[in-house]
Amino acid sequence: MIKVLQCSSCGKIHSIPGYHCKSCKSEKLDETEVPGKGTLYTYSTVHVPLATHEKEAPYTVAIIELEGGCKITGRILGTVDKLSVGLLVEVNEIKDEVYIFRLSD
Ligand SMILES: [Zn+2]
Repeated sequence: MIKVLQCSSCGKIHSIPGYHCKSCKSEKLDETEVPGKGTLYTYSTVHVPLATHEKEAPYTVAIIELEGGCKITGRILGTVDKLSVGLLVEVNEIKDEVYIFRLSD
């Protein structure tokens, strides 16, 4: 599950942090959870990371468009030759507050 903000006026979901609804400008946002499924919006593999992530490289950072329309940043498992924009993905785990996605079966 992924925590998001849902607008109580129009129902659209938004990534955290958010201060007003990007759709209707309402400030009535309530925290809720969504299943963590979506599509791969874009991605990029990091080969030379910050020193704090040195042992994890290479890894692939991705923007996922969740069902419901909001985009969140995370990582995607799998080799780059298997990835392409628009593939169905789902959250695999949340590690150190980073969402780690995998391709859906
Ligand atoms: Zn709204």
